[in-house]
Amino acid sequence: MMRVEFDGIWDVVTEATNQANLLLAKAEFYERIRTCPRFELTKASPRDIADLMERCTARLTVRLYKSRWPWSRAFGYEDARFPDMVFLNTRKLDRSMASIVGTIIHESVHAADAHSPLDFGHGSNSSADKENTAPYWIGNLAISMVSDQPFAAVDHAAIDVLDDPAEAVA
Ligand SMILES: [Zn+2]
Repeated sequence: MMRVEFDGIWDVVTEATNQANLLLAKAEFYERIRTCPRFELTKASPRDIADLMERCTARLTVRLYKSRWPWSRAFGYEDARFPDMVFLNTRKLDRSMASIVGTIIHESVHAADAHSPLDFGHGSNSSADKENTAPYWIGNLAISMVSDQPFAAVDHAAIDVLDDPAEAVA
C-alpha cells in the first residue's frame, strides 16, 4: 500500500497524515472504492484503481506551501514532475480533520495515477461537476470514513477542493 509521511511541525498535518495512513491500510477503504459503479474521465474501472492503489508501494511526502494569493481556493496540489510529493496550502488548514485527510487522499490518487500506466485524473483544475472522477470520489470517501458521516452527506464537497500547481509559490 501507499504510505504518506510528514516530517514538518504542524500538528493537524501530522494527525491528518496518520489518519490517511490508517485509511490506506484498511481493506474496507479499497472495498468501498470497488463498490463504485464507474468513475468519469477515465477508462479504468474502480476495481482497477482500487487494486492499483492497494498494490502501489509509493512513499509520499507531504510538503506545505503558502499560496501566493491570499484568496486562493486551492487546498493543495500534486505535480506529476514530483509524483511522490503531496502539497498542502497552509492558508487552507483551518478546516475539519476529515477534510484535510480527504485532500491528502485526493492527492494520493493523483500520485497513484502518476505511478501507473492507467490514467484517472480529473482533467482541468476546475472542481465543478468532478465529484464522480476518481480523485474527488475517493477523496470524498476518505472524508466520509474519517468523519463517520454517510457518503451522501459529503458527496457535494468537491466544489471546494481545487488543486492548482500554478497557484503555489516557487
Ligand atoms: Zn486533483
